Amino acid sequence: MKQEEQDCIFCKIVAGELPSSRVFEDNQVLAFLDIRPITPGHTLVIPKQHAPNLAKLDPGIGGEIFKVGMKIASALRRSGLRCEGVNLWLADGKVAGQDVFHVHLHIIPRFSGDGLRIRAGPDYGKMPPRDELEKQADSITQALKSS
Ligand code: AMP
Ligand code: ZN
Repeated sequence: MKQEEQDCIFCKIVAGELPSSRVFEDNQVLAFLDIRPITPGHTLVIPKQHAPNLAKLDPGIGGEIFKVGMKIASALRRSGLRCEGVNLWLADGKVAGQDVFHVHLHIIPRFSGDGLRIRAGPDYGKMPPRDELEKQADSITQALKSS
């Protein structure tokens, strides 16, 4: 096992070396409660195999993580916990707010008055000219072709 995996708290949770409150698992995916929940029922869905970021994650497993996330979102709404809506959140990279470098999808129950706010920068709300959007779309399309 690589040093990166030996030091990883989520790999330790998968191995049962650290405690976790599990809500679901299969061969590839594990879901457990976040230790510092934003709201009660806040769940993390992770691949059992270590991947530090999306670039290193098998896309098929990424699909499985999203499927499990959808199931948990639906279950949360029926669970009796306060859940009037759900946010799915994934931080990929330090600058995006990733603190644990083992891919994880947050499933966050939402309810009126829960206090969670996502604040954007000062340019949010402005509509860039269409040619700027076209240029950005073209850059992304070209990158997709070269992947
Ligand atoms: P992120 O900031 O997106 O990387 O999220 C990391 C999340 O992992 C945070 O919400 C932490 O509260 C959560 N976390 C860290 N350690 C543990 C742990 N031992 N068990 C459960 N959740 C954890
Ligand atoms: Zn790991």
